[in-house]
Amino acid sequence: SVNFKALLRKNWLLIATVVSVLLGIGLGVVVREYATLSHLDKQYFGFPGEILMRMLKLIILPLIISSMITGVAALDSEVSGKIGLRAVVYYFSTTIIAVILGILLVMTIKPGVSQEAETIDRTGTTPNVTTVDTILDLIRNMFPENLVQACFQQYKTKRKEEEERKDPVSTTTLPPLTTTITAIMENITKEYKLIGMYSDGINVLGLIVFCVAFGLVIGKMGEKGRILLEFFDALNEATMKLVQIIMYYMPVGILFLIAAKIIEVEDWEIFKKMGLYMVTVLSGLAIHAIVCLPLIYFIIVRKNPYTFTLGMAQALVTALMISSSSATLPVTFRCSEENNHIDKRITRFVLPVGATINMDGTALYEAVAAIFIAQLNDYALDVGQIVTISITATVASIGAAGVPNAGLVTMVIVLTAVGLPASDVTLIVAVDWLLDRFRTMINVLGDAYGAGIVQKLSKRELERMDLISDVDVANPF
Ligand code: ASP
Repeated sequence: SVNFKALLRKNWLLIATVVSVLLGIGLGVVVREYATLSHLDKQYFGFPGEILMRMLKLIILPLIISSMITGVAALDSEVSGKIGLRAVVYYFSTTIIAVILGILLVMTIKPGVSQEAETIDRTGTTPNVTTVDTILDLIRNMFPENLVQACFQQYKTKRKEEEERKDPVSTTTLPPLTTTITAIMENITKEYKLIGMYSDGINVLGLIVFCVAFGLVIGKMGEKGRILLEFFDALNEATMKLVQIIMYYMPVGILFLIAAKIIEVEDWEIFKKMGLYMVTVLSGLAIHAIVCLPLIYFIIVRKNPYTFTLGMAQALVTALMISSSSATLPVTFRCSEENNHIDKRITRFVLPVGATINMDGTALYEAVAAIFIAQLNDYALDVGQIVTISITATVASIGAAGVPNAGLVTMVIVLTAVGLPASDVTLIVAVDWLLDRFRTMINVLGDAYGAGIVQKLSKRELERMDLISDVDVANPF
């Protein structure tokens, strides 16, 4: 009775989204039971969902550029340096916590010990990806050679580039990352181009680095820089208005997205076989989301963390439905600013970087999956190897793009680092589409908490800046 109507009015979009998830699942189950759809029919069925994905991806580029540049330019360089440092410390420490949690769980539950690895299909070729190569590629991509290309070029490892130079005829483009097992395996074994900060063909990290530098310079230019600042500010506002429109379409898109997925999945039996492994990953993610992150938030911010989580609900459902933290970014922005009232100067700066490098869920998952595969293989890990797994899982999560199944691709780094066959990712591919959704949700939640925590830690600087700009407005000369 407590103002039920007002609550409804305020949250109608969230309610509509949740209802459409349920309807979508129902629809999927019914169609699966009672209709035989051809491949083409299935494609038509997924069409409304495909359009939602396209719209969300479309908005990533203007959103990242406008928010990063204005975010940095609005702060003075000393303040943005401090905020950046706090964000990075937060990203690292929470990722490490997630990895340790995952390792503890998988070593106690031991999901792979009782199982046999006999059904392993070891046909895939093992790509040689070393941790050093990955890190170098990561840094390389921070400095795109061409800004325009960085907005659409596919990710390439150095080795891939060299191969193509030698043999330009066989140049292939990355097939669309579908969730079918074969396509994923193709990506892992042949291309592994997604290792890096690439989201759907955008070199996000490269753009972020450029925008930070550009924003810093604009911020220092004084009156002249103001034109640019206002331009990007207006661009940001317009982009967020577009996001609002997209969100009205969201319930429809999501309904068909989830229904199409349920129709598409071929092997439900596998969930029984892989049950314990999935329970391990999911309980790790749950503990991280319900205990670890809220605890850190509470210790630092001293506010109810669950109200904060609730404020992010729309973004969390979106992440769960589309398995991509990059494509969820527009919604993450809206929830953080509108519901959780995080300062725009913080969100603009902290969220795009977080969506790209901060992936607690992915890190936890990679550690669990690697040890699970070791257990399946009866492969005893010593302490050194466990430490190696924690480090490489962290690197692999930073290196994973915020797109579906990216974590599965960067698994290769973790496996090869401890001498496990990289092709063993085949063992976990079949259930990845489901785990991916949940780890993406935790990735997004971690980014949001990061913004909340960094805001609290930067309160003094932000207030000081408000004071200065107030004085400026009142007394411009
Ligand atoms: N899909 C995840 C994300 O977008 C990355 C992953 O595959 O772990 O955050």
